[in-house]
Amino acid sequence: MPELPEVETIRQQLEKKTPFTVKKMELSKVVKSILKDREFNPEGKTISHVKRKGKLLDLHVDDDLHILSHLGMSGGWRISKTKVLEKHTHVQFCGSDKKGKPLFLAYVDPRRFGYMYFLKDKSAQVHLDKLGVDIASDEFDAEYVHMILKKYPNRQLKVHLLDQSFFAGCGNYIASEICARAGIRPTRRCGKVTKKECADIVRATGEVLNPIMESNGLTFSGGYSDTSGEKGDGVKHLVVFWQKECQMCGGEVKKITLAQRGTFYCPKCQK
Ligand SMILES: [Zn+2]
Repeated sequence: MPELPEVETIRQQLEKKTPFTVKKMELSKVVKSILKDREFNPEGKTISHVKRKGKLLDLHVDDDLHILSHLGMSGGWRISKTKVLEKHTHVQFCGSDKKGKPLFLAYVDPRRFGYMYFLKDKSAQVHLDKLGVDIASDEFDAEYVHMILKKYPNRQLKVHLLDQSFFAGCGNYIASEICARAGIRPTRRCGKVTKKECADIVRATGEVLNPIMESNGLTFSGGYSDTSGEKGDGVKHLVVFWQKECQMCGGEVKKITLAQRGTFYCPKCQK
């Protein structure tokens, strides 16, 4: 599943191709299950830059239009000099690069859990406002974490970290890894996390995200590739997730299930 680092990689690759004017748009026969809302037609309009909040890509179009794209389980964007003929291509923007040569931006999604909206500013904001602070942004600091944990003192830390309305972009393996590097058990009640530990959570988040972002995101079984079809190799940075031995102390990693999600932790390193 594409997680925040993979989405950020795609954002950067798409951003490099802006401004991009959509000359023609091609849609698959089953695009309805992905393209939920269409308040405008992108044809003839220009994608000026590409932002991101959590795992939601926000392609700014002209002055006040947005293409919001969530990759779901298996979605991805392709950037190609020739038309993308890959199976499961649902949305394809045909246009040209800065030098006027043909360029294609295509959304490919075999499992179709992803979704997309073409929205005017007001409706786009409604979607963006549902998301909390992006965990890769500067707003994600110890004070914010402390305030949000205090709101739900009885929730387990890892379960709370997965709540996108507070921690946008925090996926399952990221949450496990943050708890590990912060030295806190995933089952700890939020009310029992100290202010100092909130600073540890922020530090840990940077430690988890930065190396993975630099290696173009993770690769998990099921297959995930970025816009050029390249696979990342971030797996080596994980300290507990899908590990038998803790990569911090060498001790045995425990696996439990929290809120139906596989959760990994080290009983020695995490209190
Ligand atoms: Zn350990």
